[in-house]
Amino acid sequence: MTDDCIFCKIIEGSIPAVTVYEDDKVIAFMDIMPINPGHVLAVPKAHFRELNEMDEETGAHLFRVGMRIDRALRRSGLRVEGTNLLQNNGRAAFQEVPHVHLHIIPRYEGDGMKVRFGQEKAAPEQLREWAGLIKSKMER
Ligand code: 5GP
Ligand code: ZN
Repeated sequence: MTDDCIFCKIIEGSIPAVTVYEDDKVIAFMDIMPINPGHVLAVPKAHFRELNEMDEETGAHLFRVGMRIDRALRRSGLRVEGTNLLQNNGRAAFQEVPHVHLHIIPRYEGDGMKVRFGQEKAAPEQLREWAGLIKSKMER
């Protein structure tokens, strides 16, 4: 628990949230400003600001819960033609609440949500250079 963290306050119950799932490690509740109807946040109960602070077991469980919510959304009757499981990691990556969370966002054709992916192919030697930098730091 971190004093001024809004998600820690939801987890301890001092501010309300509309919960869809809870176990000893993860809670999932409705996003208060949904991108589309049914937008859920899955949140580890322990306070980690960013992914690199969190243990892999908790991360794996967080994603498992995200998959379960995806399946529930598809059966819910809400308009769900697809979903984005989105994890904004760091301020530069749109993270506003500094407590790790996984968005499960229902999507449908024409919903207006925009994410801009790359538009130009990178040169193969450039890709190999970037891959080399990453591979050399991968943990086994
Ligand atoms: P981020 O940009 O950090 O990935 O997303 C934070 C999300 O938390 C936003 O979609 C925002 O609507 C949601 N959020 C912020 N404050 C609250 C709150 O007090 N309750 C709930 N349920 N969601 C919140
Ligand atoms: Zn927190």
